[in-house]
Amino acid sequence: PKYESVALVIGVTGIVGNSLAEILPLSDTPGGPWKVYGVARRPRPAWNADHPIEYIQCDISDSDETQSKLSQLTDVTHIFYVTWSNRPTEAENCEINGKMFRNVLNAVIPNAVDLRHVCLQTGRKHYLGPFELYGKVAHKPPFSEDLPRLDVPNFYYTLEDILFEEAEKKEGLTWSVHRPGNIFGFSPYSMMNLIGTLCVYATICKHEGVPMRFPGVKGAWEGYSDASDADLIAEHQIWASVDPYAKNEVFNCSNGDVFKWMHLWKVFGELFEVECGDFEGEGLCLVDLMKDKGPVWDEIVKVNGLAPTKLEDVAIWWFVDMVLGIECPLDTMNKSKEHGFLGFRNSKSSLITWIDRMKGYKIVP
Ligand code: NDP
Repeated sequence: PKYESVALVIGVTGIVGNSLAEILPLSDTPGGPWKVYGVARRPRPAWNADHPIEYIQCDISDSDETQSKLSQLTDVTHIFYVTWSNRPTEAENCEINGKMFRNVLNAVIPNAVDLRHVCLQTGRKHYLGPFELYGKVAHKPPFSEDLPRLDVPNFYYTLEDILFEEAEKKEGLTWSVHRPGNIFGFSPYSMMNLIGTLCVYATICKHEGVPMRFPGVKGAWEGYSDASDADLIAEHQIWASVDPYAKNEVFNCSNGDVFKWMHLWKVFGELFEVECGDFEGEGLCLVDLMKDKGPVWDEIVKVNGLAPTKLEDVAIWWFVDMVLGIECPLDTMNKSKEHGFLGFRNSKSSLITWIDRMKGYKIVP
């Protein structure tokens, strides 16, 4: 077949990468028909294997491996950069993430003569500050794209600067930066998966016959929160790849509605048939509540005939503690709408969809 566009998705088994791998090859996707290459380190997992893409195992933190494997992809027209590496300090994050992104661009830009656009996914920590300063240096919400950078190191700033520098050097190469908040999506390989982790938590509570207690602050329980659906983020990136009016711009990307965790908690209660806890006061955290549950998880997997997973891959306890540990600072989607992106999601429906997906692939019963 004759392809109109050729995508290179870096992080194709991640929470947004897996959505891109599903949506890009569809016949009605804007800019298509798309040929899709997808990169990750581990062998291709079963839950990603149905997407019609070319899977490439490559560690992009290794310059030589990246050069040898990605320089061959001379037909790439669009890069979707949806990966990262998490190190103990932000200084280290800046270094490793900058290196990974540069390795990819150094391998692709000189060889892919038709490269037209690079989508870079960062996130709301652009406005909040890095994890090590979470909530201490943040701008006042709602966050808009034109807010100045915070005066602290942030690997998102490093990635943007590399992108701007490379686009400046190559005539005709455009870019877009996408800043989601907490992502609702599906990937048992994601380093930060809120819904997946809560599904595993609900399953363990059900198995042990205890209520699903809420491990967060009052502001998260009864204040307004928002989310970013992984398919919506993929659509947003595809829109920016194709629409001339979205070029060389930075965009927030969230569902466009608000919710309260006290309401979403009930959804978990119903769909996992587990007693839904009420807000009990602050101080609970999943890192403590769920420590040493590895053998319990192995037992649950066995008894229910689930897809084999390790608890540390599918349950990112620290991340849930962090997300629910502050009142969610909201962003605004005005800029995307003003530029013509009118996509949205109903966050409660989005949640139910991803829980169904978790069950459908037998990650949870
Ligand atoms: P995920 O953690 O979901 O996925 C990462 C993907 O990259 C996986 O496919 C992983 O597979 C692959 N990968 C990791 N390291 C390498 C490597 N060295 N070489 C090749 N592939 C690699 O990514 P996210 O979508 O969560 O993260 C992308 C960006 O989005 C980050 O900047 C993050 O901070 C941001 N973000 C994420 C949010 C979330 O809720 N998840 C919220 C807001 C922003 P494998 O391990 O097999 O290599």
